[in-house]
Amino acid sequence: MITAVFTAEREHASMSTHTAFTMTIGGRAVHGRTTFAVVDPATLRTAGEAPDCTPEQLDEAVTAARRAQPAWAALSETDRQRHLVAIADVVDAHVDELARLVVGEQGKPLALAVGEVGGLAHWLRETATLGLPVTVNQDDAERRSVTTHVPLGVVAAITPWNYPLGQLGFKLGPALLAGNAVVLKPSTFTPLSALRLGELLRDVLPPGVLNVVSGGDDLGPRVTAHPGFDKISFTGSTETGRAVAASAAATLAHVTLELGGNDPAIVLPDVDVDAVAEQLFWAAFANSGQICVATKRLYVHTDVYDRLVAALTKIAADVRVGNGLDEGVQLGPVSHGRQHARIVDLLDDARAHGYEFLTGDVGETDGYFVRPTIIGDPPDDARIVREEQFGPVLPVLRFSDVDDVVDRANAGEYGLGASVWTGDPDAAVALARRLRAGTVWINEVMHLSPHVPFGGMKQSGLGVESGVAGLLEFTERQTVTVRR
Ligand code: NAD
Repeated sequence: MITAVFTAEREHASMSTHTAFTMTIGGRAVHGRTTFAVVDPATLRTAGEAPDCTPEQLDEAVTAARRAQPAWAALSETDRQRHLVAIADVVDAHVDELARLVVGEQGKPLALAVGEVGGLAHWLRETATLGLPVTVNQDDAERRSVTTHVPLGVVAAITPWNYPLGQLGFKLGPALLAGNAVVLKPSTFTPLSALRLGELLRDVLPPGVLNVVSGGDDLGPRVTAHPGFDKISFTGSTETGRAVAASAAATLAHVTLELGGNDPAIVLPDVDVDAVAEQLFWAAFANSGQICVATKRLYVHTDVYDRLVAALTKIAADVRVGNGLDEGVQLGPVSHGRQHARIVDLLDDARAHGYEFLTGDVGETDGYFVRPTIIGDPPDDARIVREEQFGPVLPVLRFSDVDDVVDRANAGEYGLGASVWTGDPDAAVALARRLRAGTVWINEVMHLSPHVPFGGMKQSGLGVESGVAGLLEFTERQTVTVRR
């Protein structure tokens, strides 16, 4: 077992010179009556204070959005596309500031945060190239019938903490392009970067088109129960997704749910171990494993198991874990105390059952650090195999029969992503089609595109994001028929 040595003394400038974060409601800065501290997971110091949105302020945000939406929808699609590009320009002009806020509240290495912010700008720009289809159902002497896609109205966008800004790309661009107004509620753990983005966009969008509110654990349920929303676009855990769906049943708001995953990767015996080891390591451990489509169960054919495990444990041992602002750090801490406690609990369970720790374990520091931890061939009913860990812990399981591994990969409630690793990628397509996952990658993983629909099967979600299909989820169909 390798236990990390971390430097306890670290001098960092505060995350940002910007400390008084405000909500954006109706294009104005709105302070909370109270604030709550957002904790930097690397230092356990306060990264910033966020306003706690009152019920009256939430009402104001919904009212502002409802008031702004008709004029926004009345703009031409080209005008709204231009606004998306203008938002992307603002994001690009503030990459460093926004990325440092993400590091401070979420913990990832700065380079990854810079990529996340750039990814948001990229997603907005590419979404701006999409358009809503028009279908002519009938056009003859008797009748002309045309179906268009109209905006739903006001969208609640609720996001998780793993990509506080990156997640916005999936929601903001398509919601706005389709002609909706938005109330954005970022995660309680990571609201600062989204609040700052709201501030930066006050002069870019008409007042009320984008509102940003922040709050504690009670704010999400208040948002989903609010009768003023026509749509709830939610990304988070499957457990919370069920609560969101139940809440939306009362108002019949439309829902898109992007939920948890327990993605399997299957490594076939014809694979080039040296070529894939590094990719497989980062498939599981990038962003400290806190990616919905990170590899969370690695099934390796027995012929290559020992070689691959040796390569992975070597990479794990050399990885630099630390404060995301430190030069050369490759993995930051787990993002917050609740998630850290969950990872510690899973590791305790694995230890209590006598599973083999090939590398890793919890670091002894002030921050929420966990070394990349690889657990050798635990049984299929182990918690670390059945549950979504969403942290830097990977079970590596042995298999010898492909049919059997398909069943094992398909077990459980999740069906978000999966991957197959092989020397014969074309032949693997048939195997990929047998996996119950919304996206199956062959010889790569986690590749997403603004032009490709992404969503989960089974209890990993309802509906999709991105691409035209994702855009359409922010609309409803309207048919107008002219009798001639
Ligand atoms: P979470 O479900 O705890 O929280 C997600 C969001 O919902 C946060 O903004 C939170 O404040 C809010 N929320 C919490 N309880 C709520 C309630 N009862 N009603 C309404 N809103 C509520 O999830 P998380 O811990 O922030 O994120 C991690 C989870 O998200 C993992 O399961 C991960 O797989 C999943 N995820 C999925 C995708 C995807 O695209 N499928 C992407 C990223 C993360």
